[in-house]
Amino acid sequence: MKREYEVIIIGGGIIGCATAFELAKRGITDILLIEKRYLTSGATGRCGAGIRQQWGSELNARLALESTHIFEHLEEYTGYGHSCGLHQGGYLLVAYTQKEWDQFQENLKVQHRLGIDSRALTPQEAKQIVPYLNTDGVYGATFCQKDGHADPFHCTQAYAQGAARMGVEFLTYTEVTGLQIQNGQIAGVETTKGPFSARIVLNCANVHAPELARMAGEEIPVTSERHQALVTEPVAPLIDCMVMAFSRSFYVQQTPHGSFVMGIGPREEPSFSFRSTWQFLEQNCAVMCEALPVLRKLNVVRQWAGQYDLSPDRNPIIDEAKQARGFYSICGFSGHGFMVGPRIAILMANHLAGKDDTMDIRMFSKKRYETGKLLLEPAVV
Ligand SMILES: Cc1cc2nc3c(=O)[nH]c(=O)nc-3n(C[C@H](O)[C@H](O)[C@H](O)COP(=O)(O)OP(=O)(O)OC[C@H]3O[C@@H](n4cnc5c(N)ncnc54)[C@H](O)[C@@H]3O)c2cc1C
Repeated sequence: MKREYEVIIIGGGIIGCATAFELAKRGITDILLIEKRYLTSGATGRCGAGIRQQWGSELNARLALESTHIFEHLEEYTGYGHSCGLHQGGYLLVAYTQKEWDQFQENLKVQHRLGIDSRALTPQEAKQIVPYLNTDGVYGATFCQKDGHADPFHCTQAYAQGAARMGVEFLTYTEVTGLQIQNGQIAGVETTKGPFSARIVLNCANVHAPELARMAGEEIPVTSERHQALVTEPVAPLIDCMVMAFSRSFYVQQTPHGSFVMGIGPREEPSFSFRSTWQFLEQNCAVMCEALPVLRKLNVVRQWAGQYDLSPDRNPIIDEAKQARGFYSICGFSGHGFMVGPRIAILMANHLAGKDDTMDIRMFSKKRYETGKLLLEPAVV
């Protein structure tokens, strides 16, 4: 294996693999992607895999809309010989407070400006879409048919295999343990399999991005928050769309296989733990059975934990280290990195390849926390 590359990417989740693919598509193929375990072993392989365009900020609505266009034909786009499992059964966003319902009206205006086909529903209309929804306490809901979910394993593999066909190399079960920096410029990485050199290094290590950035003299304001999810036994189709509520902090969907995947988002102390807890099982089932009483009959098959890489304004950070030019951190996705990953990868690849983009990458810089130009988002779970 050679030791010198044009670009090194740290992290084999959706962000690292999609960025490798987009760079290769732009002719930058001399890339080594280093992953400490296996591809999708981090948040990507543990996520709910929901894809929604119903955001409250124009930025996120755009990122998700443009990513959805890619998810809609990811197989052809990457040359992947397997379905990536996209199912556009819609997202039903349920409002349980007046304040939330008012905010939904504002969110719809943003979405409609971008041509997103979302609409407001009364509780009765919401029940027509999800007959098992308990409408007690529901003020209203919004729905977008083009929202849905995809298979995070196949999506990531699609990007990785597409990148590999263009010449990108992958080194799994290898941890980046240090950085080489010369005269304020990144020069390479130290790993458990020896050093590799490159003048561009992309830090796509999710919750571990801050510790790598610190080696380059940068403080990235991202913390790790454990989030848990579970899957039930498969049953006959009961709901076709994702059901989500911000104020009750839950999401639930039925997969094509028939099992239900669901999670709640209680605020926990910062944690890197992959351990799942009985408290989650108990709280999750109480919240879900209240919202969709039909779930009471189902058996839980498995539960797991992953991490959100939380940034202060719950939006991504793309930042180049000042003391190690060429070292970029791409993290802070705060629980929605899967659905915006395709567009973020394009943005990053265009920047590195010197190509124009309709989005200004500078708005994602962590400088916004000093200038107060935060990327505020009212619609996060
Ligand atoms: C329970 C849960 C539910 C979620 N639901 C959704 C959802 O419905 N929709 C959505 O859009 N998003 C969701 N997310 C968020 C989404 O999973 C993430 O935002 C996204 O997967 C981030 O991708 P990534 O490539 O940045 O990170 P990851 O997939 O975590 O990839 C980073 C990789 O870096 C590797 N790594 C770390 N340090 C090193 C090192 N030193 N050397 C080498 N490799 C290293 C890790 O092993 C890991 O594989 C959810 C997350 C969780 C935990």
